[in-house]
Amino acid sequence: AKEAGRNAVRFYLPSMNERAVERLALVDAMRHAMSYSEFELYYQPQIALATGEVIGMEALLRWRHPQMGMLRPDRFISLAEETGLIVPLGTWVLRAACAQAAAWHRSGLGELRIAVNLSSRQFNDASLPRLIESVLLETGLPATSLEIELTESLMMENVDAAIATMRELKAMGVQLSIDDFGTGYSSLSYLKRFPVDVLKIDQSFVRDIENDTNSTAMVAAIISLSHDLGLRVIAEGVETEAQLAYLRSRGCDEVQGYLFSRPVPAREFEQMLRDSRLA
Ligand code: C2E
Ligand code: CA
Ligand code: CA
Ligand code: CA
Repeated sequence: AKEAGRNAVRFYLPSMNERAVERLALVDAMRHAMSYSEFELYYQPQIALATGEVIGMEALLRWRHPQMGMLRPDRFISLAEETGLIVPLGTWVLRAACAQAAAWHRSGLGELRIAVNLSSRQFNDASLPRLIESVLLETGLPATSLEIELTESLMMENVDAAIATMRELKAMGVQLSIDDFGTGYSSLSYLKRFPVDVLKIDQSFVRDIENDTNSTAMVAAIISLSHDLGLRVIAEGVETEAQLAYLRSRGCDEVQGYLFSRPVPAREFEQMLRDSRLA
């Protein structure tokens, strides 16, 4: 205080400083979280509309922060990307998700498919195909049971490199899907060049099915586009019976959303599956 008093003019920018300090603290806590296993995967079921059966699940990352409670990825993923922490974290996610899916296969819950989100850093890492190969070998999960979710913007960063990586993954039998489809900037001509298996209709279109004719038209167009290209199509963020009915009427293949289940911890997911099979 004495030091500060000597300066006649001082600029104190609390919001900037506080934000910087908060970021640093979070980065620090993230390093700590890696070694103290505060990260956890939640699972959200994906349902085939034709049969009503759960055919797979998306792994969604959670951080059980000792003071701040359960944090969703929008609180920390971009920071993890900026600091490079996303690489070890993403490797952990991949390994944990594949190990869990393989364990569910072995316990007789069916050949469930596991969808894993990748960040740009991971996807652009030249060693990604080798990493995935070794994780599959280690966990015993068949490559065809792994689906990698990529966003359009991630794929558009370097189109030729992306296509090369995608081809390598496809050659191994790994499934590829475009997440948040319809929100990015890729054109239809690129879509033809990307060797993907699945389009995931972004939840913003699904949400507006009942009250925005543009969104409804988008959903219908994405479903028929997918089928014309020989791709599967999943709608995410399905919350109401009306949305479900519309998706069904348009021949959407799979659905995911709160109408069926929120993302839940592994044990709860397993219980849910066992209960539904017994019923
Ligand atoms: P996303 O891949 O688009 O995942 C869907 C998000 O929508 C998830 O949010 C999910 O919990 C939420 N959701 C699912 N069903 C519904 C619904 O019916 N209504 C509504 N309103 N929301 C629904 P979450 O879990 O907070 O994840 C946010 C984003 O964080 C994900 O968006 C994904 O981009 C990213 N993310 C999650 N896990 C990972 C990960 O392991 N690695 C990377 N790189 N990113 C991840
Ligand atoms: Ca996703
Ligand atoms: Ca999505
Ligand atoms: Ca999203």
